[in-house]
Amino acid sequence: MDQKIESLLVLTHADESGSTLTKPSLEAVTAGLELAARLSATLTIGIVAVDATAAASAVAAAGVRLLAVSGEAFAQARYASDAAAVEALSRAANATIVVAPGSSRFTRVAAGVAHRLDGFIDTHITALGGEQTIETTRWFYRQRVEAVLSRSTRPWFLLLDAGTHAAFASEPAKASVEEISAELPTIRTTVSGFRAPAQDQQTIRPDAKLLFVAGAGWTKKQPDGQIHTEEAGKLILGFLHATGASLGSSKSLVDQGGEGNSVLPFLTHLNQIGQTGATPRHAKGLSTCCHGEEPHVVGWRFIGERRAISLDPNCGWTRGKADVVYVADAFPVIAKVNELLEAKK
Ligand SMILES: Cc1cc2nc3c(=O)[nH]c(=O)nc-3n(C[C@H](O)[C@H](O)[C@H](O)COP(=O)(O)OP(=O)(O)OC[C@H]3O[C@@H](n4cnc5c(N)ncnc54)[C@H](O)[C@@H]3O)c2cc1C
Repeated sequence: MDQKIESLLVLTHADESGSTLTKPSLEAVTAGLELAARLSATLTIGIVAVDATAAASAVAAAGVRLLAVSGEAFAQARYASDAAAVEALSRAANATIVVAPGSSRFTRVAAGVAHRLDGFIDTHITALGGEQTIETTRWFYRQRVEAVLSRSTRPWFLLLDAGTHAAFASEPAKASVEEISAELPTIRTTVSGFRAPAQDQQTIRPDAKLLFVAGAGWTKKQPDGQIHTEEAGKLILGFLHATGASLGSSKSLVDQGGEGNSVLPFLTHLNQIGQTGATPRHAKGLSTCCHGEEPHVVGWRFIGERRAISLDPNCGWTRGKADVVYVADAFPVIAKVNELLEAKK
């Protein structure tokens, strides 16, 4: 492939405050800076925020050109306004490569904008490599096959998976931002507000150090011949409360709700880890009452250290899928762990 002189644009957006860049945005900045240095290419950072000058202070130290589309119209995620902003920034930067966080906000609009610009998009990028050309890495077939892609089509939009790069960190500094005007189409969608569960009811925490996985065993008959779903729920929530861990589930457990069985009310399919669920990134993982079958374990691809508690000495975890397995009854084990954690507080 011919060597091209690339013009790199990193897209970023603010969080709900409207004036602070999100962590995945700062991770994209790190990825962009590394790539620009390697290719000796120019880098521009594009910002979508209510108050772009305030948001830009976090990346002023990067010392690159800063473009922004800002104002109240960009306070909320909305296809029409976000697509207009991303298009305007891409055009203003003359971008050949657009690196953006794979946030719900940008994931929704990036493919549409790539199409408007006659470009191409790849998503779920985990690494940007290559010395002369750009080689991007992503996983296929639920994280079983890793592929390296390069393309000659430009502009090429690349959506990065969160947690694959360190967030750009520097002292906030005064930034000089070039304001770009985005031509807004007729806006048909007005955002009237957010309805979200209270923070302590959120069980999916992508930034947590620990992933706690609950398997179907929690709701199965226990050695006393009874099920103890209520107690299981209290133990699991107690552990999450004490540790701030993120809660994952096996498919069997979340499926049980649909089958009319006794269920844990705080679990949904969004918690499901595995081939047909999520593949989160956490430093550590603790699986409980789960068999460790391959379609589940494939979702643990990016979990650093794996431990499991299962009654079954022949379960998948003991067959080489976990670093440490406790062959034990998870009910008393988690009760004791919770007690120790509470005592430590
Ligand atoms: C196409 C396909 C896609 C799939 N995708 C997924 C997926 O994305 N995610 C997923 O999870 N599964 C997936 N599955 C299902 C997967 O194969 C398993 O069936 C599922 O993961 C099993 O869940 P489990 O281990 O919680 O339940 P079970 O297999 O019922 O295991 C429960 C475990 O709990 C243990 N246990 C019971 N009581 C206790 C106790 N008191 N203390 C400790 N241990 C106890 C038991 O010994 C047992 O090992 C998929 C299957 C297919 C065919």
